Amino acid sequence: MRIKNHDITLKIEPKQGTLKASDRVKISGDERFRFYLGNRFDVLSIKQGDRCLDWEVDKKRKLMTRYSVDNWDSEDSLLEINWEGTVSSFQGYKVCIIKEDLVELSGFCWWFPTIEPQSQFESFTYDLKLDLPEDWTAITPGESIGEKSRYRYTRKIEDIFICASPLLDTFERECCGLDIEMHIPKEIINFKEVLIDDFSSSIELCTTLFGPLKKGNGGIGIISPRGKEGAEWGFERDGLWVVGDLFTKYLIDNDWKIENLPKSLSLHETIHGWFGVGVDFKEPWLAEAITQYLEVILTAMMNDEMDVDMKYFNSYRERLEKHLAQDDRPVKELTFLDDMYTHWYLKGSWAFWDLEASVGRDRLLELFRMIYRDFVGKKISYEKFKNISEEKLDLSPDFMEDWFEEKGFEPIYREIH
Ligand SMILES: [Zn+2]
Repeated sequence: MRIKNHDITLKIEPKQGTLKASDRVKISGDERFRFYLGNRFDVLSIKQGDRCLDWEVDKKRKLMTRYSVDNWDSEDSLLEINWEGTVSSFQGYKVCIIKEDLVELSGFCWWFPTIEPQSQFESFTYDLKLDLPEDWTAITPGESIGEKSRYRYTRKIEDIFICASPLLDTFERECCGLDIEMHIPKEIINFKEVLIDDFSSSIELCTTLFGPLKKGNGGIGIISPRGKEGAEWGFERDGLWVVGDLFTKYLIDNDWKIENLPKSLSLHETIHGWFGVGVDFKEPWLAEAITQYLEVILTAMMNDEMDVDMKYFNSYRERLEKHLAQDDRPVKELTFLDDMYTHWYLKGSWAFWDLEASVGRDRLLELFRMIYRDFVGKKISYEKFKNISEEKLDLSPDFMEDWFEEKGFEPIYREIH
């Protein structure tokens, strides 16, 4: 059973935090039809043409329910599912909220509205009609095909699907042959040029170092304007750049520095356009380790301050040492639930610094350029990355054998530079 197209009409009432949906799904296959909905939603009716169909609860999990429909006619592949619910509070780390000045629907709590997470890698199209108050800017990812409301989506929709707010102003720019959409909170609109500059420099530098961003595989950051109740997170999505005001304002007020180290707002998510989304990694920690390492190197380049990288590197040391004293598991063994920042980002990127000390920065950057060239649009595993690196950098198999697997994470004690 496969969903080929969603034709969705969403009526959103920000003040009440409610959502009413009518999803006309085009399906193929002739088995029993199953669909998923977050538990915050109720099914109102299911129709096939004029006929009302019965449904039953098939499986109830913590956050979602699986429904099944038996008596549908497989000659006609169009079903209409109507559902509604209230999403006025944050639930778990999969964000989904409707409030007075912001709508963020992240795959409707993971299930784009009706398919299970594993199926979200499937390619399907969607037509979207949004009923929102006037003056609201709605932002939806996906590649637009033909009419403006029709999109193709081929990636996992576990993060932001729709972001809408009356607080955002929209701009379009061209950079390195890419059309970029930027959405900036009105409150910080005076800094528009500074933000565009930051963003363009990030794209230009990545393009120079790794080659042009491939359309459709690219990732442009979203730092959601979520405000105080929800931490601001960054995501990578096609052609979009949404800026939140919390973190942005902090950087502006602090002269684009965190603890005296320069920080670009857009660089991390932009790098993911090349590594993490452009080239996808089977192990997400590897994408973060690479991105964190590159972020520091590229920050140093963007700021023309040659010692920035060493300052960053040294700023990890204390935090890592402290952390390792409590938990010395290898990066490979850690999950989403552990301290991701310390393990995936800091400890992970530390391994790349160690590698840089052995092979030199230029050769390492050349390796990334080659990996992007050969694997853009594909997914690679740690094993494959390790094999390519060993071959390309003439490393003895011993070098990387335990690289991300050693318990105490030995590289932290090796001499760098
Ligand atoms: Zn990241």
